[in-house]
Amino acid sequence: MGLFDEVSVIGPSPFKCASGHVQGGPFQTKSTEDPAMERYYLAEGRLFLADRLCDWDDDASAPEQSVEHVPDSEQCILVVKRPLTAQAMTRQLCVYRACSRCKEVEYRSATTARFRDSLESRSPWVEYEITLIDGKLARVVPIRLETREDVIRQLKEQGLSVVEETARR
Ligand SMILES: [Zn+2]
Repeated sequence: MGLFDEVSVIGPSPFKCASGHVQGGPFQTKSTEDPAMERYYLAEGRLFLADRLCDWDDDASAPEQSVEHVPDSEQCILVVKRPLTAQAMTRQLCVYRACSRCKEVEYRSATTARFRDSLESRSPWVEYEITLIDGKLARVVPIRLETREDVIRQLKEQGLSVVEETARR
């Protein structure tokens, strides 16, 4: 059905891309029992489920918000308190995302090859399998961590034309 859930990390993250960029998420996962665009958080080694975002439109369930002043500054910080409920889930979840800190690899897709300026891009993939036991993070196993070189090689294997910095000038 194409539905997934999201998992984000609060605090130190056990996830890194192949180039060492720490990944806080959000990761996508389709491994929960019934993926439904829920927002999960990993914090202090435990799994939490957040109140649904779409419920925020409803005043009755709006999260608690406040404004904090930054000392000696004109700036303020919007503080949103969003209730989290600890989950006693025992399950293996496959979580994945593209690294947003690795530089994207630009390429010309087969369908847009005729148009010189039509570029597509792909970022290195980050995929882990995490094991939760009673909601506690018990194991973190890297499944697929791509470097830019991996992405470039795969695109070339698919017969796609990779556009690197030097070639574009
Ligand atoms: Zn990266």
